[in-house]
Amino acid sequence: MIDRRKFIKSVSLLAGTLPFVKPLNFSKFAKTNVEKPIVISTWDFGLPANEEAWKVLSSGGRALDAVEAGVKVPEGDPNVNTVGYGGLPDRDGHVTLDACIMDENFRCGSVMFLEGIKHPISVARAVMEKTPHIIFAGDGALQFALQNGFKEENLLTPESEAAWKEWLKTGVYKPWEKKDWDNKDSHDTIGMIAIDSNGNLSGACTTSGLKFKMHGRVGDSPVIGAALYVDNDYGAAVSTGVGEEVIRISGAHTVVELMRNGYSPADACKGAVDRIIKINKDKAKELQVGFLALNKFGEYGSYAIQPEFQYAVYSNKEKNVLKNSISHF
Ligand code: ASP
Repeated sequence: MIDRRKFIKSVSLLAGTLPFVKPLNFSKFAKTNVEKPIVISTWDFGLPANEEAWKVLSSGGRALDAVEAGVKVPEGDPNVNTVGYGGLPDRDGHVTLDACIMDENFRCGSVMFLEGIKHPISVARAVMEKTPHIIFAGDGALQFALQNGFKEENLLTPESEAAWKEWLKTGVYKPWEKKDWDNKDSHDTIGMIAIDSNGNLSGACTTSGLKFKMHGRVGDSPVIGAALYVDNDYGAAVSTGVGEEVIRISGAHTVVELMRNGYSPADACKGAVDRIIKINKDKAKELQVGFLALNKFGEYGSYAIQPEFQYAVYSNKEKNVLKNSISHF
């Protein structure tokens, strides 16, 4: 049998420059005072999303229902121009949406490159619950949504259309490059993870993706294991930022695996970010990726490449507090 200490050491080497960590003992879970329920989500628009999720959690509801209800808030808000209705379009003027959801039983559903549906997260949930499949894409996802009672609508608001037309004046239709990245407003997915009063974990993630992306481009947000992963025995993680970099390292799955191997949520997020930094070398300065993680003890943490990453927390102890993530730069 592999020696646990040697194993943890080899994981640290793989992960880059992880600090010394005290492994968590998950077998002691039953004896530990777990902080639950709790919901955490990415960015400042996570605050109203958490409020909604908390209504479900505080009345004894399921984490899955809470995360779906929570992320529907920015999906339906025309002022959040990075998620759902009002999301900035791609370079052809289409609002194309990506979303995924995962529950406490490894069940998951996802939609990608979906147009015309305000709440892609609920379509992802329908994929999970009504089909034996996991991912529906493009026209097929729209067809599935319409067959399941969702309404098709125009998601391009006048504000987002105006921003796209402004971009067209100087924008060049070519693959996105790292130098196109604008830390302040190129991005911002909502990723939400929660533990309910029964101690079960679930997560959801939804986005309109990088602004003015090439038509057909799909990021990490609908990819289970990249933007979202839930292992109900150990923890859950979500990501935001440049999706290509997250997919390359199976980001959220990496974070959960590090937690499974004893890392705290923040150290596990750092382990995943360190890999991205190592792969990108000095180009990492031009990237943003942030991970947010919650373990089975109700402990949470985050780590990002750039300092701008914020997340929102709602629990019995902390009523919707906005926190700055620890960051590499
Ligand atoms: N991860 C998203 C994507 O690559 C964007 C973001 O979170 O900012 O589509």
